[in-house]
Amino acid sequence: MPDERMTGQRIAAAEQKLATLALAEQERDDSHFWTGEYYNEGMDGSFDKLKEECGVFGVFGHEEAAALSFYGLHALQHRGEESAGICTTVDGSDFFIHKGMGLVKEVFDNDRIASLKGSTAIGHVRYSTSGASLIANAQPLHFQFRHGHIAIATNGNIVNAEEIREELEEAGSIFQTTSDTEVLVHLIARARGIPMEDAVKPALQKVSGGYAFLIMVNDKLVVARDPHGLRPLAMGTIDGAYVFASETCAFETIGAEYLRDIEPGEMLVFDKDGGMQTDRIAPIERRAICAMEYIYFSRPDSDLDGINLHAARKRMGVQLAKESFVDADVVTGVPDSSISAAIGFAEQTGIPYELGMIKNRYTGRTFIQPSQELRERGVKMKLSAVRKVVEGKRVVMIDDSIVRGTTSLRIVKMLRDAGAKEVHVRISSPPYANPCFYGIDTPSRGDLIASSHTVEEIRRAIDADSLHFLSKDGLLSAIGRVPGEYNRGMCTGCFDNDYPTRVPADADSCGC
Ligand code: SF4
Repeated sequence: MPDERMTGQRIAAAEQKLATLALAEQERDDSHFWTGEYYNEGMDGSFDKLKEECGVFGVFGHEEAAALSFYGLHALQHRGEESAGICTTVDGSDFFIHKGMGLVKEVFDNDRIASLKGSTAIGHVRYSTSGASLIANAQPLHFQFRHGHIAIATNGNIVNAEEIREELEEAGSIFQTTSDTEVLVHLIARARGIPMEDAVKPALQKVSGGYAFLIMVNDKLVVARDPHGLRPLAMGTIDGAYVFASETCAFETIGAEYLRDIEPGEMLVFDKDGGMQTDRIAPIERRAICAMEYIYFSRPDSDLDGINLHAARKRMGVQLAKESFVDADVVTGVPDSSISAAIGFAEQTGIPYELGMIKNRYTGRTFIQPSQELRERGVKMKLSAVRKVVEGKRVVMIDDSIVRGTTSLRIVKMLRDAGAKEVHVRISSPPYANPCFYGIDTPSRGDLIASSHTVEEIRRAIDADSLHFLSKDGLLSAIGRVPGEYNRGMCTGCFDNDYPTRVPADADSCGC
């Protein structure tokens, strides 16, 4: 129902804001265009999308550790495309590292891979969530100390990094990067009276946040996941060696067998004799894997805690249809991440699913940007409507989230320009109203349209004929992790402001 309290002034302000943001999007430098599998910046929404955090991949005990890491990281490219890196060691005394800005295939070639010797490797793809987009912040980070080497790759964010960093700097530490991950390295290296390997656990116990760490300390590999299990981390095996990845799709790519997910708060230590010790950083307080991994971040062919992402997204579409049926002629999903939910919506309603939008996958980093005038005349680089599918039709358009609202406005307009008679927008997640503090790059609260607008206000601002978001209860039951036990088992902080850890009280973004 329309919100009668809404004033014309507020709507006008929302529309003005959307127009300003859309202009900012057009004016952005194009140097960060993503050539990866999912979204590109701009028309199809990566400017208006939450940015994946990072991806990690590790190998212990395989002669082709670097090559396996290359292929594993390539499978995780959608989690970070700004930089890529691999660090290896033969015996814990010589470390080899290469990293660079760009995609995995741009950073590495055969010669580079061949130069990374050893049977232990950790690798990383990065989108900067904490620390600037600089080569110095590209991971793995590697440090040599009096007592040996530490190399570290992480996915996530340390919420109390600034606090710890100030303490360490006061005590004389000199930081080489602006990355939050470096605080953990200093905590490990400063431990007195114990070997560095033994200092990892107490260091992990001092940091708070959402993380998956792969840490090489001399000849040992330490694998750890935060006590809430906010960020995913899985373990597999190939040829008797262990492999680790943010997502199971990386195991499929290299032909490894999935063994299990690392438990929240679990720490595994692998030593050169092939031994694996399991330990805990902390007891599981409240399992809270990131709901957005299920909605949008992870690849549809990955499984998280045993749940396949495509299947979960399809169930979200089914649930969305149950909650917000609308009489229409065709259902379409914004490619690629919303297609599974659109199929579920179509199956539940009986309205045919059609490919109403096509994404151009060949938008590279260096294409010529259309001028403002050409833009206004409708030149579209990345997403196009299929006119024959939508013309004269009542269209249900499924998307996975609305962040600022700019992209939804432009997609609705694109469908209308292609002749759609009605455009009904259905979102397979609840309104995204609060920032994330666990490694997802979100705009500040003020730029999240759902933080200050009702659903009806958003509908009017994006010019849709109707708009519905999936309810939080519907989302949790569709994912199926903990039926009937809401807010246990899953982080939903960005929807309901209920975070599993202490977060900065006055922060309106994570500072990413
Ligand atoms: S706040 Fe949202 S994006 Fe961040 S970890 Fe929680 S569910 Fe994921």
